[in-house]
Amino acid sequence: MMGAMNLTDTHCHLQDPRLAGNLEAVLERARAAGVARFVCCGTREADWDAVLALQESHAGVIPMLGLHPWFVGEAAPGWADRLETLLATTGAGIGECGLDFALEAFDRDAQVAALRCHLRLARALERPLTLHVRRAWDALIQVVREDGLPRAGAAIHAFSGSAETARELQGLGFHLGFGCGLARPDAHRARKAVRAVAPDRLLLETDSPDLAPRHLPGYAEGRPNEPANLRIALQAAAEARQASPEALALETEQTAQRLFVAPFAIPLS
Ligand SMILES: [Zn+2]
Repeated sequence: MMGAMNLTDTHCHLQDPRLAGNLEAVLERARAAGVARFVCCGTREADWDAVLALQESHAGVIPMLGLHPWFVGEAAPGWADRLETLLATTGAGIGECGLDFALEAFDRDAQVAALRCHLRLARALERPLTLHVRRAWDALIQVVREDGLPRAGAAIHAFSGSAETARELQGLGFHLGFGCGLARPDAHRARKAVRAVAPDRLLLETDSPDLAPRHLPGYAEGRPNEPANLRIALQAAAEARQASPEALALETEQTAQRLFVAPFAIPLS
């Protein structure tokens, strides 16, 4: 058994209706599992207010606001101006945004333009950034080479690339996040990738309520993921890296706090 911990789930969506209706119990289980802070990511204009309200109502919630690549096509005109105003007035971080070329249908130029907009805001306001990227590594690297990352830092959450891509992205300055998927029996590629990440670039997350550990009894039937399962990601990452969970938790937590907690003056107890 692992002892008492004080961890940050570096990417989740507590505002999602699958969790929001049950939030007290979800957060109680998280705290019992040693997960005390939640980087809570908005995905479209309709949920930004809910994310900010959670910061007001619950301890340890770190708000991030952004437009997820899945919703770029349906965003109302003027979204970027409204995002900029909200960011300026609230001090929230930026995301979830990014590039997803694994969708069946998508507008590549619109996704790239939205990503550039988030990058510009993150650089101008000096806020950390959390990105969703699938099958778009070349495009991401090109944009970042041209535009640059924010000084406050950037993470690619639920990293799905190869070990080689992990090395290349770290070279550009990215942090890489891994979740419960690492624990899947067939996740050989992800375990290889997590071994390629430097301790000061490695983040743990759940992406709750998504990316549940479906290989576990109780989750096969569609039960939503929750931040308490950060322990599953920690255990799997530690096994893949042949590290002790306690030692790895200290390292990843230091990284998480530097990137996502320190800029927001969130109490660490
Ligand atoms: Zn997410």
